[in-house]
Amino acid sequence: MRLSRSFVPTLKETPAEAQIVSHRLMLRAGLVRQTAAGIYAWLPAGFRVLQNIAAIVRAEQDAAGAQELLMPTIQPAELWRESGRYDDYGKEMLRLNDRHERDLVYGPTNEEMITDLFRQSVKSYRELPQIVYHIQWKFRDEVRPRFGVMRGREFLMKDAYSFDLDYEGAVVSYRRMMLAYMRTFRRMGLKAIPMQAESGPIGGNMSHEFIILAPTGESEVFYDAAFEEIDYSASGFDIFSPEDLARFVGLMTTHYAATDEKHEPGTWEKLAPERQRRGRGIEVGHIFYFGTKYSAAMGFTVAGADGRPVAPEMGSYGIGVSRLVGAVIEASHDEAGIIWPDAVAPFRAAILNLRQGDGTCDRLCEEIYAKLGLAALYDDREERAGVKFADADLMGHPWQIIVGPRGAAAGTVELKRRAGGERQELSLDSALARVL
Ligand code: ATP
Ligand code: MG
Repeated sequence: MRLSRSFVPTLKETPAEAQIVSHRLMLRAGLVRQTAAGIYAWLPAGFRVLQNIAAIVRAEQDAAGAQELLMPTIQPAELWRESGRYDDYGKEMLRLNDRHERDLVYGPTNEEMITDLFRQSVKSYRELPQIVYHIQWKFRDEVRPRFGVMRGREFLMKDAYSFDLDYEGAVVSYRRMMLAYMRTFRRMGLKAIPMQAESGPIGGNMSHEFIILAPTGESEVFYDAAFEEIDYSASGFDIFSPEDLARFVGLMTTHYAATDEKHEPGTWEKLAPERQRRGRGIEVGHIFYFGTKYSAAMGFTVAGADGRPVAPEMGSYGIGVSRLVGAVIEASHDEAGIIWPDAVAPFRAAILNLRQGDGTCDRLCEEIYAKLGLAALYDDREERAGVKFADADLMGHPWQIIVGPRGAAAGTVELKRRAGGERQELSLDSALARVL
């Protein structure tokens, strides 16, 4: 993209309404704009980040054998009456009427809808297990939308649903999602710690929240220093091997990790003081086993091997795709701006033309831009070098290719790595080889 013709409205001033750094930087870097309380428009650069994050989530769900589909945002209230949640959900649920006075809701989640879809078509034990997911907008009328996209009212979520014949199968699905989640967050440059979460009336330890450590997080967290040393890439585990999954989940859950809601001071105090870590965290994902809660309430059974009806065991698995954009920035920034991890950056590189209008500089920049295409943001504005440097640092591109008159005459550019800040004078070809 050419910055002179791009809708990337950067701000010099810090917007007064933003309380945390990711919100400030998302507004200043021109990624999003609020259109109503807790509702955001994703501008071109921000939308690219959102798409990159969604692509990583999708790739890891697919690799775990989950099937992507797309359910609507609008749901009939009838399904929610069947599960009993129409009244329970309260004011967080946005309720609507169509012209025929039918009750509808804007989906805050999709357990009812997916159970209904399965109940219509899945009839035999032979068709299970299955995991399906979608990446779709949700609406929750949060009491206090805040922190930008971190706690919005409209937000993008990946939600997956598993259907198994029995408890043992459901455990395998749950573990598979836990491994997929650790790989997903790792690819975004994040270290997420699975922490035991409230699992409601069903009990057991089959609910985990995935927490990114950040001083601005909404939850207080307590964890064992062992998490500072674990292999977050979670390599060496076969996601389709139940034995590997058991081993992996064992590794993730033997050390103490809890949010304030589930914190047990008694257990915590037994941990050696030098291993006790306390901090704040952002919840970026949540996995949940709930047995036959929805299948039983909504009359969904399949014929078991002996012909008798069985209510499938279910779980649901959420990732806050839009919240992750903020979470990545919370984890990766400095005083000058965002530092995008390569995997989620809106552009791999910015091309900074320090003397727009100078024939040699313009020609070299155009050549680089032609080679990099959409991977680059070409700062072709008639602006001072200082403004271009500041905006490139603010927007956080992993690489800056700096083209000035002296280097351009000699066919060289300066290459800056945003993380770390090293600059190197290189020939055009070696600079491009580093960037691509
Ligand atoms: P929270 O405790 O933060 O309200 P939740 O328990 O209500 O989250 P889930 O229903 O488990 O959230 O939703 C799955 C994921 O969706 C969460 O882990 C979070 O990353 C994201 N999410 C939930 N609510 C919001 C929101 N209001 N804005 C942005 N993302 C959200
Ligand atoms: Mg919530």
